[in-house]
Amino acid sequence: MSNILTCRICGCTADHPQYIAKETIMGSFERFCYFKCLDCGCLQIVSIPKNLGKYYSLNYHLEILELGKIEKKEILFLKKRIARLILFSGKRGKITRNLFGKLFPGFLWQFGELGINQKSRILDYGCGRAHFLLRLYGWGFENLLGLDPYIQNPQRIKDSVVIKKGDYTQLSGFFELIILNHVIEHLEEPLGVLKALSNHLSDKGTLIVNTPLVDSYGWRKFGNSWAMWDAPRHLHLFTVKSMAIAAQKCGLKIVKLDYDVGNNIWETSRLFSLSPEAERIETVSQKELERRQKKIKKFLKMLDALGDSDMASFYLRKS
Ligand SMILES: [Zn+2]
Repeated sequence: MSNILTCRICGCTADHPQYIAKETIMGSFERFCYFKCLDCGCLQIVSIPKNLGKYYSLNYHLEILELGKIEKKEILFLKKRIARLILFSGKRGKITRNLFGKLFPGFLWQFGELGINQKSRILDYGCGRAHFLLRLYGWGFENLLGLDPYIQNPQRIKDSVVIKKGDYTQLSGFFELIILNHVIEHLEEPLGVLKALSNHLSDKGTLIVNTPLVDSYGWRKFGNSWAMWDAPRHLHLFTVKSMAIAAQKCGLKIVKLDYDVGNNIWETSRLFSLSPEAERIETVSQKELERRQKKIKKFLKMLDALGDSDMASFYLRKS
């Protein structure tokens, strides 16, 4: 029997090494076969399950938070002005950030560096419950679009925040910022979606892709107990090389890369690895996992510094 498979990212055809991963989050412990591309390193499911929807049944009946009932007008007014100052400081804001960075959300400083302002057109693709868009709205951003195929109750606040059920086929015009927050690893055709989104990115716009990284110490240490594997929901787990290839195929290039260890990924992986064959895994609250992870903060910071963390934010621009 031939074991020759073709990588869906770089096109390399070879007898790639194969691995078995278990569905763990829902507790079915069903097994799925993956292969890791010998060339670009992307870890991908061998065959995409036809009934993928059933693996989302616990998490994906998405009710959006009530829009417009977020904060008092006076607080919104104040936040809007603070955000404007931070965004305006742009790349010159580094000294201010060192002094006041922790008082305000990190994304405001990042957006300032990217040249994003409160009127920039921003798309959150696969926005889920729209938490991030609602935060942005709270900080005075007024040109926000969220798209998600699983949304139950589409909503809008005037023209400031529009949240729709759907995908890229409904897009029109250009965006200064497009966010794919832990979405690309779930896509059956990541290249197709990336290409479609790049067609809606303005010339100086940025596409931010947050995703797990398989070329990480977490993957090497925990193997099929690695929490970010999340079979079969994660169909493609990228390396830096495979993301660079995907970007290049879509007319994009990586201009910046931030590593991230997440709040509880390490501890969740460790928990899974303690009983790899068990059908039942100890139930531990998210808070407890975060508390445990804080104890090894120094070690995780070192992984960040070495570029060996479980997750990364890729900043892509038109090439
Ligand atoms: Zn490949």
